[in-house]
Amino acid sequence: MVTRAQRELAGKRVLVVGLARSGKAAIDLLLRSGSRVVAADRRGQVELCLSCEGWRERGVELVLGEHPPGLMNGIDLVVASPGVPLTAPLLSEARERGVPVIGELELAYSRSDAEWVAVTGTNGKTTTTALIGELVRSSGRHVAVGGNIGAAISGEIAGLPSDGLVVAEVSSFQLDTIDTFRPHVGVVLNITEDHLDRYDSYQDYIAAKFRMFENQTSGDYAVLNVDDELLEAAADEIPGLVVPVSRFREVDGGVFVRDGQIVSQIGGGEIEIMPVSELGLPGPHNLWNSLAALAAALLVDIDFVDASDVLRTFRSLEHRLEDVAEIDGVRYVNDSKATNVDSVKYALMSYGVPIIWIAGGKDKGSSFELLKEPAARSVREAIFIGEAAAKMTAALEGTVPVTLAESLREAVELAGTMAERGDVVLLSPACASFDMFEDFEDRGRRFKDEVARLKNAAATPGRKGNKT
Ligand code: ADP
Repeated sequence: MVTRAQRELAGKRVLVVGLARSGKAAIDLLLRSGSRVVAADRRGQVELCLSCEGWRERGVELVLGEHPPGLMNGIDLVVASPGVPLTAPLLSEARERGVPVIGELELAYSRSDAEWVAVTGTNGKTTTTALIGELVRSSGRHVAVGGNIGAAISGEIAGLPSDGLVVAEVSSFQLDTIDTFRPHVGVVLNITEDHLDRYDSYQDYIAAKFRMFENQTSGDYAVLNVDDELLEAAADEIPGLVVPVSRFREVDGGVFVRDGQIVSQIGGGEIEIMPVSELGLPGPHNLWNSLAALAAALLVDIDFVDASDVLRTFRSLEHRLEDVAEIDGVRYVNDSKATNVDSVKYALMSYGVPIIWIAGGKDKGSSFELLKEPAARSVREAIFIGEAAAKMTAALEGTVPVTLAESLREAVELAGTMAERGDVVLLSPACASFDMFEDFEDRGRRFKDEVARLKNAAATPGRKGNKT
């Protein structure tokens, strides 16, 4: 069967800008669809992976390093990686010439005949997307899960039957470059300040998130966390049917918590799904994620009994409040993915015991003042590292005791000496990682390595400082 996009893409000359994960997946999809592909990246051959060579053999024209003049000549369509700012000169030139610029999300969507569920928000996207994927799998339906999780979405949809379901994690950068994208179920978890280094204003960032719904019609659904004031206020403007979720109040036609029980009113009637206390994911933020995932799953017809089984057993993903080890009665938790203030706020609220909090890294321009209140309630000691350490100290000194550390190793060692039995040592940085690490995953793995060292040292007989 020839899909709509195959007809449109066959024989077209398509420029793919940015050859990271999503660019590579876009190239494969375009080649499968019969396009002539020009692939451009400012990095040179050496920095890029070997698969470039495979592309040449498959007819891809590679333009690496500086973009030559005339690169846009004869191009019918540009597929831009989410890492390339819309203001990049090449993309501005395309728009001036009237060449459409789309992202890999739009490309994948236009290529697929399956039903789509899409998840966005400042925080919780990966967790909620993965959870929806598990919920759908439990029903036996074919599912392709992608976006920022694992593989890029255009790779994941290959081979998905048309009665399958795509569950996509979509970032604001991907929504910046949609055109016809129209998820049957769109989920927005929350919107708080982030990426101010990339958007001109917070308003622009909010507007990007709401593009999720711009092509929806009355047969589609918008799952909104209405405890987020911004989302509640926007509900009236959404063309799809709004399905509210709340952990604070009963919401008509939605999913909410009443007397410690998760209740659904989706599809008329009312069903008690399960007690909140039995959810597998920790923390108040994950309760929102679980409610939203459940709502999405029920809207695509997942049985509520199967759903509650999955919600009970689903555990935190790597680098997201991930339990690493227990040493001398102290729990070590890796939350390296917490790169903004809001995610850290909820991390600090998730344990109910004193926290030795390790934070810092590359500042993304946010204010750390919002962390004062949750830190005052839960943090016994704060240890800051990286470029943002001074700014964080200025914001939090006087609220909690602050110590600076030169490295993550020093921070973990210090935390080990400060923690008392029953405490949690939490890496939850509120910053990007690029000042000291390759990415948040590298930072999380290094944290786990340091914790493992500490654990080995603790197991060594005769060491000093045993806690009693
Ligand atoms: P994203 O994909 O949006 O970055 P993740 O699921 O990877 O979301 O989680 C990123 C960070 O945000 C983690 O530290 C996690 O504990 C925290 N987090 C998850 N869900 C939420 C939420 N609903 N609100 C605030 N923080 C959250």
